Amino acid sequence: MRLTCPHCGVRDAREFTYRGHAIALDRPAPDAGESAWDDYLHNRENPAGWTEDLWYHTPCRTWLVAERNTVTHAIRATRAASERPS
Ligand SMILES: [Zn+2]
Repeated sequence: MRLTCPHCGVRDAREFTYRGHAIALDRPAPDAGESAWDDYLHNRENPAGWTEDLWYHTPCRTWLVAERNTVTHAIRATRAASERPS
């Protein structure tokens, strides 16, 4: 698998570290209870299809978001994590 770093161009996936889904989670209130905190910390969607993943490119220390198909592992777009989606 190859990913496109916004600074370095196309690179082998071994230069990147996967850091999970690129989604904002709603943090529960401190007194929300064990179930809410368990869900926040451990439970994630596992979609079959297109997702946005957060990756870290170690050589240039850049965080990026990759649109990746979880079924085919195809990458259709990447952007710096600091950029808004188009
Ligand atoms: Zn890079």
